[in-house]
Amino acid sequence: MKTCFISHLSRFSKGRKTSLKITALCGLLTVLFSPNAIAEGKLTVYCSVQNVTCEKVTQHFAEKYNVETQFVRNSTGTILGKIKSEKSNPQADVWYGGTLEPHLQAADQGLLESYRSPLQKDIMPRFNQLMQQRGDFISIIYLMELGIGVNTEKLAKLGIPEPKCFKDLLDPAFKDQIQYADPRVSGTGYSFLTTLIELFGEQQAFDYLKKLHNNVAQYSKSGLATGNLATGEVAVDISFMHGYVREQEKGSPVKGILPCEGIGYTLGATSIIKGARNLDNAKLFVDYLLSPEAQEIPWREADSYQLPTNIHAQPAPKASDPTKLKFIDIDFIRFGSNEESKRLLEKWFEATKADN
Ligand code: PLP
Repeated sequence: MKTCFISHLSRFSKGRKTSLKITALCGLLTVLFSPNAIAEGKLTVYCSVQNVTCEKVTQHFAEKYNVETQFVRNSTGTILGKIKSEKSNPQADVWYGGTLEPHLQAADQGLLESYRSPLQKDIMPRFNQLMQQRGDFISIIYLMELGIGVNTEKLAKLGIPEPKCFKDLLDPAFKDQIQYADPRVSGTGYSFLTTLIELFGEQQAFDYLKKLHNNVAQYSKSGLATGNLATGEVAVDISFMHGYVREQEKGSPVKGILPCEGIGYTLGATSIIKGARNLDNAKLFVDYLLSPEAQEIPWREADSYQLPTNIHAQPAPKASDPTKLKFIDIDFIRFGSNEESKRLLEKWFEATKADN
């Protein structure tokens, strides 16, 4: 059986964009005689997790089920745009990962195929209500908490004390030292927006973002672009905490801080694209992503420490313990509405225009 993996990874640094468009691996695998091989055919995955996780998970799935699997990786908002523009001629079957809200917005726009996986029964009970409300189109497969990432060496060099709160980042000392992801293309950026709205109320959240804009060096295209923080190109990044653990592990002087105002979070999701040509394999893939086996691959094989949602999956030893974190409430139904997200993203664009 043949597996072919196509990756598209973009990295962004101050004032310029470096883009890697690579065919990562395309080879013959000898799994034809695997005792697990029960399915066949093809599957195309739009993937919004880390590139290496996309690679490992699709590879395991291909081997296990004897399905010719390829993936294309991009950030959550970008994939949503792609699915929308391909509505009349879908180019992929299933969407793996990325933040929940854009998946909900896709459902809201009629871009998804209905599928309620039987494995939803193993999702953490705290999300039962959400799954009852939206589980006919979406399954949640991991959890990530939002924090402030700092480069401790860069802060020391600049003589700036470590921030403890989002509000500390408004200090003019941080001018041109902060990056966060553009919420129009990045699920992380949108999650920052929803967190601020839940913490401060909408008016104050946008007042805050307008002021923060004065200190922002760049809006990255993905919350996964933590490399600029690691190298000290910026001193501060706002994204999910597990990314900072990974940078630390690689030896960078990076530290994640949970903001004093409260801990925002989002859920990683998966959904099937309407008009999927390989519908049965797409369903099989969603079931696979909900399994403990697939949910442990990110930390076992890809140094990625998002928290599994399956109660039987073992979390990474380095992952934060969700029972010890007090998350704020996020109204996913509100922020997953297509109309509401359009309104908020336009408001964000106004608040961060160059001439503010
Ligand atoms: N999924 C995982 C596992 C992530 O770590 C992140 C961001 O850090 C995202 C999804 C969201 O990515 P993006 O901001 O590119 O939409």
